[in-house]
This record gives sequence, structure tokens and C-alpha cells, in this order.
Amino acid sequence: PLLLLPTGEQQIVVACRIRPMTEEEILQGATIIAHKVADDNMVVLLDPEEDHDDVLRANRSRERKYIFDVVSDARADQQEVYLATSKMLLSSVLEGYNATVFAYGATGAGKTYTMLGTEKNPGVMYRTLHDLFVEIKKFAGKREYQVTMSYLEIYNELIRDLLATSSSSSFLELREDAKGTIQVGGLSEVIAKTPEEVMEMLHKGNRARTQEPTKANKTSSRSHAVLQVNIKQRDVTKSHTEQVRFAKLYMIDLAGSERAAQTQNTGRRMMEGAHINRSLLALGNCINALSEKGNTKYVNYRDSKLTRILKDSLGGNSRTVMIAHISPASVHFEESRNTLNYADRAK
Ligand code: ADP
Ligand code: MG
Repeated sequence: PLLLLPTGEQQIVVACRIRPMTEEEILQGATIIAHKVADDNMVVLLDPEEDHDDVLRANRSRERKYIFDVVSDARADQQEVYLATSKMLLSSVLEGYNATVFAYGATGAGKTYTMLGTEKNPGVMYRTLHDLFVEIKKFAGKREYQVTMSYLEIYNELIRDLLATSSSSSFLELREDAKGTIQVGGLSEVIAKTPEEVMEMLHKGNRARTQEPTKANKTSSRSHAVLQVNIKQRDVTKSHTEQVRFAKLYMIDLAGSERAAQTQNTGRRMMEGAHINRSLLALGNCINALSEKGNTKYVNYRDSKLTRILKDSLGGNSRTVMIAHISPASVHFEESRNTLNYADRAK
């Protein structure tokens, strides 16, 4: 259902990005089974396994169709994806409203490419902050803004600071104040001034992420990387302290959504899988509850660290953009179907 904020904007926007085939997939002999319908926000997914005669006999279609708010395919570049997703959050963030943009999908589906990108071709995190600085300059003489950022990871439901200067690997705790506001105790907060500085911090933080090999993928990322941007603004034409407003913008590169069972993991890895599913499940449940018409469902933020952190930036007056990522390859049909179903439930 289309849920509109008092400002007339859509509360939850669901996008889908289909990345290009990788060399590995081509070498595996994979075919392309996920397509964007031209000039339409529709994804068509073809089941590569379904027996053609069976399908004809049952008069069923091998195709599954999904409609989202935004769909981009291999032809879309980083700027296009940014303009169609995160860019729409800037105006409300500058007015003092919280917002969240997150990348969902299996390992290898393109989440980190979209959020972080490469140094030559930066992603949503960099482009959003770049434009945030551009917009802030336009308010010179009227409003004063201060932008700080924190970057953390949630791994096994444990929180680590990705911008910590010391190499100590201590875990951070969530604190709740009397007003119910959640804060991460001891998290570094860095003043961000130029896009270049931001880029450097992001890449440094990303290298500090916990990345361990699993059977499903050599560089499977089992952690959620959470970039928190704090925007403080003061109306300089007025002298009252009430003229100070705060907004938070979260940009999140989620852990791979593939099931623990699919990676044939045991022991410690299996436990990690369970934790990841818990956070993703909790996030999915919150998004589902929020997208229910009239927000009548109870939203349970308490189920995971991720949703506790996002408590005041999901729902309410906050805007959320979800970017679901899929591979176009036949070898990843199951994962793509799971991701599209998850994203479909968020609408
Ligand atoms: P994830 O973070 O979801 O595990 P990655 O972002 O690391 O996946 O992407 C997997 C691989 O595919 C990487 O080598 C990445 O550079 C490449 N890739 C992903 N999306 C794109 C894209 N839109 N265009 C070109 N290459 C991409
Ligand atoms: Mg990644």
C-alpha cells in the first residue's frame, strides 16, 4: 500500500537493482533469467528448472513478475541508481527528518558496489554525502549545518566501531536514555567536511569489516555495515536554542541474505547465520508492519541490534529506501527469488 507522510512523500520506497553478469557466471555457462521490462518498473524472473511441458500442461507460466517503485538493470550506472533512490531523501533530511537507505541481497548480488562502490566509481554513500554538502552550501547565511558521521558493523549481534583509531576490538553496547532514544555507547563521531575525507573514511572503515570465507562465497560478508550521518542545523537568523534541529541518515550495507542452510555451514558459522537471519528477519518484520495500511500492526524494534538502532529512523516521519539486489544469472535463481519475495513484502 502507498503510505504517505504528512509531507506527501511515500514512506517506504522499494527499488531493485539487477547487476551485470560476472565473468565467473559467464564461465559457469549461466544464462540471464532476470530482466527489467523496458520503460517499466517490473522485474521478470524466469525459473530455469521448471519443465517446459509441465508448465504448458498446467497452463502455468515459468515467469514470475514483480513490480517495484524503481528498477535498474545492468545498463544503469552508479549516478542513475543514486538519483532514483537515496537522492530523494536529501530534502527531508535537510529539514530535520530522519531517513534510512539500505541494500539487501545475497552475497555477490552487488550490495557493496551500490553502497560503497569503487574509488573511481563511488556508490550511494559517497554521492549522498557529496550532494548533502552541495545543498548545505545553498543555505549559507540562513542556516548553519554540522555534519558528523559514524560507521559501525553488527556481526553476530555484536557492535564494532569501524572508525576506531585504536586497534582494540572491544564491542560497543546500546544505551537507552529516559526518552527512549537509543545510542551506541563510545562510538566515534567524526566531523565530515569534504567528500574526499568522507570517501577515505568509508574505504578505511570497510577494510575493517569482518570478512571471513564461507563455502558459499570466498568473500561472503557476514556483517551489517551501518553508516550513520548526523545533521545538526541551526537557523542563524534566530537566536533561540529551539532553532537547533537534528536529523539522522542511515546508509546500510546489509549482510548477505542467503540462508545459513544453503551454505552447508556447521558450528560457529551456523550460529553466525542464525544471528544474521535474526537481524534481517527483524528488519523485514518491521518493514512489513510499517507498510501495513494505516500502520496498525505493532512494530517490534526490540528483536535485534539493527532494528533497535534504527528505531527512530524507520517509520513515523522517517523515510526508508530499500534497494534489493539480484544477480541476473540462472545459477542464482533461488537467491534471486528469495530476495524478490522479501522486497515484494516490503511494498
Ligand atoms: P555484495 O556486496 O552483495 O556481496 P558486491 O557488491 O561485492 O556484492 O558485488 C559482487 C561483484 O560484482 C563485485 O566484483 C562487484 O564489483 C561486481 N558488481 C556488483 N554490482 C555491479 C554493477 N552494478 N556493475 C558492475 N559490477 C558490479
Ligand atoms: Mg558486500
